[in-house]
Amino acid sequence: MTFSYTQISQYLRCPRSYRYRYLDGWQEKDTRAGMVFGRSFEASLGAYFRREDPGAALFKEWNAYRDTPFDYRKGDTWDRLLHQGIHLLQRFAQDDHVRVFRPTENLQVKVLKSLPGGNEFVAYIDALGKLDGQKCLIDWKTTTSSYPVDTSLLALDPQLICYSWMTGIPDVALVVFVRKAHPEIQYLKTSITDDQREEFGELAHSVIGQIERGEFLAHSGIRFPLNGCTSCAHLGLCLHQQDLIDTQLIRRPGASELDWLAELSD
Ligand code: SF4
Repeated sequence: MTFSYTQISQYLRCPRSYRYRYLDGWQEKDTRAGMVFGRSFEASLGAYFRREDPGAALFKEWNAYRDTPFDYRKGDTWDRLLHQGIHLLQRFAQDDHVRVFRPTENLQVKVLKSLPGGNEFVAYIDALGKLDGQKCLIDWKTTTSSYPVDTSLLALDPQLICYSWMTGIPDVALVVFVRKAHPEIQYLKTSITDDQREEFGELAHSVIGQIERGEFLAHSGIRFPLNGCTSCAHLGLCLHQQDLIDTQLIRRPGASELDWLAELSD
């Protein structure tokens, strides 16, 4: 089987949710405008590094969803997201902190790692480039709120640790595009240690073992402030509420063969 960070993190959040998604094929509907916009925005970053017109690329990608009935956050509209995106692209170009050479090779880099037992692990790295002149692995994020300014916390980001484990690259960075009234871009760097990479390998190995043994016990959570179940797309399945299932989920039998696509949705 091929595993990805998305799968490991979903299993760790709740093994039952993992089973619903990857074995039973229940996937969340693409109704969140912010998530779909994030994918369009990342495509426009590719255009920026290829020295094409990133604004035109963003319009083209996002225009495909102009009439899609998304759940927009309060105050958001299709136009507003587009303008925020254009603003962020302009700011990104002015800042000029990030360089990606040979963008066809160094954007959306597919990395495969063989695991014991014939399994493999796949990751799609957003970019391999330089941030303020320092070589690093880069992950883009589009969000509506800023990340904590205490960058020491970043060294505990499991996705960055995973990507560092996959590539062996210790220096990692998050470039966070914050969509708000005055758009902001955060450039956050950290280093991942050998011990962290080794430990992630052990974690992945342990999770894959549990999946192979068919251990999918529910890790329910409804205690403030960690209300895992209330933000879980699979809540309707656990509560047997058909209306919730119908509004949030779509069933794709055989979804486990498309696991690599999940990685692209991060
Ligand atoms: S609703 Fe709660 S218990 Fe059910 S799958 Fe989601 S996180 Fe797990």
